[in-house]
Amino acid sequence: MSSVVLRDVRKSFPSRRGGQVAVLSGIDTDVADGEFLAILGPSGCGKSTLLRIISGLEAPTSGSIHINGADVTGTAPERRELAMVFQNYALFPHLDVRENILFGLKSRREPRDLQGRRLRETTDLLGLDALLDRKPSELSGGQRQRVALGRALVSGQRLILMDEPLSNLDAKLRADMRIELKRIQRRLGLTIIYVTHDQVEAMTMADRVMMLADGGVEQLAAPAEIYAAPASVTVGRFIGSPP
Ligand code: ADP
Ligand code: MG
Repeated sequence: MSSVVLRDVRKSFPSRRGGQVAVLSGIDTDVADGEFLAILGPSGCGKSTLLRIISGLEAPTSGSIHINGADVTGTAPERRELAMVFQNYALFPHLDVRENILFGLKSRREPRDLQGRRLRETTDLLGLDALLDRKPSELSGGQRQRVALGRALVSGQRLILMDEPLSNLDAKLRADMRIELKRIQRRLGLTIIYVTHDQVEAMTMADRVMMLADGGVEQLAAPAEIYAAPASVTVGRFIGSPP
């Protein structure tokens, strides 16, 4: 079954000169349940806009979005069956790690014992048990990133949208987190849609890569297939050769 289905999703923004600028020009895709889909492309090509449309933070100009079989095109973000992880972590500075993670649950009004169990499972999985009483300012970049991930995981949602979640980390930590994210995804059977401009991230983590350029899909295929047969010169240049 498909987790996410996009049909002819288009988005234009008003331009400074008074007209419209097309940022997404007809995106179609089916994301399978349990798939890791990377959306890859250069800065400004529309990746974040597409993710925000899937999450409901932005409305498409036209086209439809289905999640778990339901048409959610007009529904609010909090009513969609998904969780989101942002590049800047979006943690609350005045709340400690426990409260920041539980924020993912409280807004959904779940029973307390269930909250406690999910919190333990999540902090255990992410190695955050010893940090529960710390504020974000007392954490390293990698730890903050884990808290942001914890907030998404504790929600119990099976679909997680991520917008460049590792780009604020140094190279070593980024490499470690790539492996860890894959491990967690497999273990929990999550569907992940992962926006990045980093071809190594996309090509090493994803089951399929959606290569975006100029608001359109240049290629949508498994990493090996993209290396073997890039669909265009643009894709070939952007991907380079296998690491
Ligand atoms: P990416 O995430 O791939 O770097 P974005 O989706 O953030 O790209 O942006 C794609 C294009 O849409 C950019 O040219 C950006 O300036 C424009 N854009 C994004 N959001 C808005 C907005 N709210 N209003 C006007 N233009 C926007
Ligand atoms: Mg972006």
